[in-house]
Amino acid sequence: MLFSKLLLPTLKDAPQEAEVISHKLMLRAGMIRRVASGIYTWLPLGLKVLRKIETIVREEMDSSGAQEVLMPMVQPKELWEETNRWEKMGPELLRIQDRHNRDFCLGPTHEEVITDLIRNNVKSYKELPLNIYQIQTKFRDEVRPRYGVMRGREFLMKDSYSFNEDEACLQETYLTMRDTYKKIIERIGLDYKIVAADSGAIGGDASEEFHVLAETGEDTIAISDDSEYAINTELLLKEGEDIASLEGKPSPDGKGVIQIKKGIEVGHIFQLGKVYAEDMKANVLNKEGKASTLFMGCYGIGISRLVAAAIEQNNDEKGILWPHCIAPFDINIIAIGYGKDQKIADASIKLYSELKDMGYEVLLDDRKDGYGTKMKDSELIGIPLNLIIGKRFIETNEIELKSRNGDSSTNDISNIKTILDFYK
Ligand code: ATP
Ligand code: MG
Repeated sequence: MLFSKLLLPTLKDAPQEAEVISHKLMLRAGMIRRVASGIYTWLPLGLKVLRKIETIVREEMDSSGAQEVLMPMVQPKELWEETNRWEKMGPELLRIQDRHNRDFCLGPTHEEVITDLIRNNVKSYKELPLNIYQIQTKFRDEVRPRYGVMRGREFLMKDSYSFNEDEACLQETYLTMRDTYKKIIERIGLDYKIVAADSGAIGGDASEEFHVLAETGEDTIAISDDSEYAINTELLLKEGEDIASLEGKPSPDGKGVIQIKKGIEVGHIFQLGKVYAEDMKANVLNKEGKASTLFMGCYGIGISRLVAAAIEQNNDEKGILWPHCIAPFDINIIAIGYGKDQKIADASIKLYSELKDMGYEVLLDDRKDGYGTKMKDSELIGIPLNLIIGKRFIETNEIELKSRNGDSSTNDISNIKTILDFYK
């Protein structure tokens, strides 16, 4: 992509509305723009990152054996009445009417729609287990949308729903999803904790959340410094415990002491059991040929929230430091004197095509600006590797390599393949 052609409105300063670093940087790096409270447009650079996370999630879901579908965003009231959630969800559920005054809502989650699909189309235990997922826009009329896409009203989620014949099979699928979420977050390279959680409006027997650790996290979690013990303090509060007195106390599992940390909830997995299936009469014929209620699990991961969470953990005073696998481009060619010196323009374009042919995603900064402006923009948007073609190139055929994390070296342009291998 040529920088001069890219819709990339970078900003020197973040607008007033932005409080946390990820929101500031997403606006400054021209990734998103606000349309209304909690509702954003994703610009080309932001969308590239969003799609990369989406791809990682899809790959891991597919390899876990889950199947992808796409359910509607607009859902009829009747389905929500079957589970009593038309009332229970309150003002968070955005309700709309069609031209015949029929009631609908914009889906904040999809338990009702998927359960309806399964009860109508799956008849026997022999067709189980099933784990169905989608990657889709959700709408929740949040009381306090804030922090940009971190707590939006409209956001992208991967949600999946498993259907099992009994508790033991549900447990098995649940653990597969738990592993899948670990793989997703580890591929992106984020520091995280799995914590015991409150099941909230979704309900069910037990649930765990995946938290990316960051000072700006909205959740407070209690974790042991020497074991897997971790719990969302929301759950402790519900059980009447006193959080302040927990700090530095021995962990309830007898290993290590408790530390209080802030986390961004990026994923949440639930063992729903029979809650939805009972309300909606979702049965299959069991081994004895009798109707038996399905056991369900549901598993959500916030794709748009993950973009913000990744930035919260990967930034410095200059801008974003993308984990390489989700960077919008692998390489930025910074061509100094592009509009002035034909030799530089020719060499940059040649290098640009070669790198693209090698499979890299490349940005060529062909603007008239000088080194300072170009490098500042590159650092702000967080491209992992810069190749600088300038004066030195004309004299010696050498280009400078500068990685976003500070490494640099000078090399002959003809060695580019070897050099890039080294940088990997
Ligand atoms: P929260 O406690 O942050 O409100 P939740 O418990 O309501 O989230 P779930 O219903 O568990 O969320 O949804 C699954 C995932 O969807 C969350 O783990 C989060 O990553 C994402 N998510 C939920 N609400 C939002 C939102 N308003 N904006 C962006 N992502 C969200
Ligand atoms: Mg949750």
